[in-house]
Amino acid sequence: MRASQLHLPTLREPPKDAEVVSHQYLVRAGYIRRVAAGIYSFLPLGVRSLEKIKTIIRQEMNRAGAQEVFMPAIVPAELWQESGRWAQYGPELLRLKDRKGAEFCVGPTHEEVVVDLIRKDVKSYKQLPVNVYQIQTKFRDEVRPRAGLMRGREFIMKDAYSFDASQEGAHASYRGMFEAYTRIFTRLGLDFRAVEADTGNIGGSMSHEFQVLAESGEDAIVSCGACSYAANVEKAHLPMPDFTATPDGLGAAQLVETPGAKTIESVCKVLGCQPADMIKAVLYDADGEPAVVFVRGDREANEVKVKAALGVKALFLADAAWFVQKTGLPPGYLGPLGIGNVKYVLDGEIRAMATAVCGANEKQSHLTSVSPARDLANATYGDVRMAIAGDPCPRCSGSLRSFRGIEVGHVFYLGQKYSKAMQATFLDEAGAAQVFEMGCYGIGVTRILSAAIEQNHDARGIQWPVSIAPYEVIVLGLQTEGPGVALAQQLHDELQEADIEVVLDDRDERPGVKFNDADLIGYPVQVTVGKKADAGIVEVKLRATGVRFEAPVQGLSARIAAAILAARKGGPLHLLQDPA
Ligand code: ATP
Ligand code: MG
Repeated sequence: MRASQLHLPTLREPPKDAEVVSHQYLVRAGYIRRVAAGIYSFLPLGVRSLEKIKTIIRQEMNRAGAQEVFMPAIVPAELWQESGRWAQYGPELLRLKDRKGAEFCVGPTHEEVVVDLIRKDVKSYKQLPVNVYQIQTKFRDEVRPRAGLMRGREFIMKDAYSFDASQEGAHASYRGMFEAYTRIFTRLGLDFRAVEADTGNIGGSMSHEFQVLAESGEDAIVSCGACSYAANVEKAHLPMPDFTATPDGLGAAQLVETPGAKTIESVCKVLGCQPADMIKAVLYDADGEPAVVFVRGDREANEVKVKAALGVKALFLADAAWFVQKTGLPPGYLGPLGIGNVKYVLDGEIRAMATAVCGANEKQSHLTSVSPARDLANATYGDVRMAIAGDPCPRCSGSLRSFRGIEVGHVFYLGQKYSKAMQATFLDEAGAAQVFEMGCYGIGVTRILSAAIEQNHDARGIQWPVSIAPYEVIVLGLQTEGPGVALAQQLHDELQEADIEVVLDDRDERPGVKFNDADLIGYPVQVTVGKKADAGIVEVKLRATGVRFEAPVQGLSARIAAAILAARKGGPLHLLQDPA
């Protein structure tokens, strides 16, 4: 391919709305163009990278025994009413009406459609298991579409759904998908972790997220330094410590006046203690009722865990005036001793505190010398705080490290949540009707482009893993006449002959422009045919590592082709300076 013939409009400046690097580079390097908030067109380079991702996904899904189908983007409301989600889903669901007034939505996910598909055609246990997937455009009217393809409103997802006759079967399907995802993200050349996750909106009982590690990621994850445990902090369990014995000679809890000191910092100042010596109260509106969560003063409550511990569905931070009106308790001075019949839970870590300072449930005062082992022995404890680096691993004696990640895939064990609601059954060996056991498995195809860039870039542009790069090699022809012209063409032709995806930059541009574009677009291998072309010498540069060296043209195409073929599997690009 000649660069002069490529529709490849690169830009000097990032678009104004682009805050994150991947968004800036995708637009500047000519991969995507914005049409409306969270809605994009893909230019030729964008389509090429996207198709490569889809191909790898298809190959691994097929290899795992899943079969490709294609369901409609526009879904009739009746199916969503059957599952109950028409009423539950809220404004993220884009609803529309046809000319007769019949209601539809643009599918944000396809559990309803696929359950309907399978229940109509799969009648017997003999037809099970079955796993179908599609690669399709989804629409979610996200509150805050952001970061280009990272959180779009229209985006491409690979969604798969498994149907099994038994729970064991469904677990095997889940494992199969977990393994397929591991192969997919490995082949894509991404540094990722599979982490235990909360099941959120979709429901179900077991789930893992596949997270691409990147500092700009929205998700906080922790993983053990000693064993394979890894989880989203939303989900990460923390072990329940034993009580620490009351220190010898500790007097009874004491009421002290702390006028005006309502925050952890101000109490610490007044009493000369540290946040880690305190018990902090976080006030909630839990399903419309007041509730209090206590964590150590230097910790944060984790709302996903709080919901589970309190057994509630809707959880919001409470408005202070509302809380006072409901409980009569003074915000800023709340503590677990004498809190009355307000719903509460103490984080387990508080059991490990020898002594603590907490609110006294009286205006302007706190309690000191509180011993949880003595004073809070019969209180209700739970695992309700956010895990952080250094916390103990729930599986072994190791400790947790923390990372930021971008969720690119998600596997759920659904059980019978949708099949039951939609009465999807098959006949078992005894001829009795049974409800399908289901799993669902998503991959954010377009989000992978953003995630790959967030993980692989420098100040000059994108450093694609070979398996996602739109083209693998660029030959930069710097000479407009003389032997360099033919040499650049020859290298291009040889590489193309070897099935390498190569572009020849034959544009009438200054070398600086060509170098800048090549780095911005992110071709993994750059071959510059410059001044030494007469002597048959060119310069090779590897984009990801910055390694550059001069090499004789003789035999170079074959060496590059061999290195590219090896790197297509997802590993790093090895091209030795000295082939011997
Ligand atoms: P998130 O927590 O990021 O909103 P989700 O839990 O809503 O994700 P799923 O419903 O599991 O996501 O969708 C499957 C996959 O689709 C996700 O793992 C993610 O990679 C991708 N995805 C979800 N929402 C978007 C979006 N708005 N734009 C791009 N990709 C998305
Ligand atoms: Mg979402």
